[in-house]
Amino acid sequence: MRSTHAWAADGSTATPSTALHRTLVERRDLRADDIAVRVDYCGVCHSDLHALHEHGAGGGDDSEGPLVPGHEFTGVVTEIGPAVRRFRVGDAVAVGNIVDACLACDMCTAGQENFCREFPTLTYGGVDRRDGTPTLGAFAREYVVREDFAHRLPKGLDPAAAAPLLCAGITVWEPLRALAVGPGARVAVVGLGGLGHLAVKLAVALGAETTVISRSADKSEDARRLGAADLLVSGDPQAMASSQGRFDVILDTVAVAHDLAPFLDLLALDGALAQLGYLGPVTIETTDLLIGRKKLTSGGSGGMEQTAQLLEFCAHHDVVADVEVLPSAQVEEALERLARGDVRYRFVLDLSDLDGPG
Ligand SMILES: [Zn+2]
Ligand SMILES: [Zn+2]
Repeated sequence: MRSTHAWAADGSTATPSTALHRTLVERRDLRADDIAVRVDYCGVCHSDLHALHEHGAGGGDDSEGPLVPGHEFTGVVTEIGPAVRRFRVGDAVAVGNIVDACLACDMCTAGQENFCREFPTLTYGGVDRRDGTPTLGAFAREYVVREDFAHRLPKGLDPAAAAPLLCAGITVWEPLRALAVGPGARVAVVGLGGLGHLAVKLAVALGAETTVISRSADKSEDARRLGAADLLVSGDPQAMASSQGRFDVILDTVAVAHDLAPFLDLLALDGALAQLGYLGPVTIETTDLLIGRKKLTSGGSGGMEQTAQLLEFCAHHDVVADVEVLPSAQVEEALERLARGDVRYRFVLDLSDLDGPG
């Protein structure tokens, strides 16, 4: 076993706690097809907050073990297994929120390892397919990963600002591609956060006429800076009524349960609403779909091939996340402010401080 410094939440605390502390965690010795990655930057995602809350809610169940969050990271290859073909020591790489899958089922063979029938191995909070050990995430200085689940980070992409492409970015990229968004498409993005701001940048880069839908006009200036044509205020009934039938595709990135009817009303004939920010039950009136033959869809994360395409596209179109980079020792501050929505638009941790004394 090898070990690395990491930020972990303890599974053994007597009181529910989400507090992260610096500790040493184990990484497996390299298998033939593994690479070791020095983690330089890791984005802070809403699912990290969620996982920490769930973990803390366990309330002292020791069997759970530590939780190390972090599943959108970039870094450099430091060591390779003997069968590794695609990477060399020194290569810049990027890894997202899945690190293994069966590679044999219909989803995997269609290039959608994220939907693997055997469930993909998550970068943290998962179970390794080969040895059954729990996976620990990338709020750590090193990660060991099967080479098939690492991506080459294209030259020209800033490694800190590119890290969020690996979760937030791919989550909005796949539906944009699946819904054939291109020049002339009229796209709306609901919610301007980690997912939403990347959805706007990517839709604009794909040539779509892009609108932000937000509760207030506060983010109008940001919306335009990101490339959106305008901002529609969802709390303004008149503006919403006059936008009926205006969009071909709506990407809804709002992270809490909410009524979809007002957004379905904005879709044109055969339009589609992709619900991406919230997981859980929703209630819809089927006539809201019937009138205009509208579609409701979803998605999450992405397959390896599409992730590689996204990275190439971003390098070509100069798209990265708007990030606030913090030393990893400030991880608690990042999580707290993310919970309050106080970030434009993604925190990224710089893990190099884990080399120093803790
Ligand atoms: Zn994520
Ligand atoms: Zn599979």
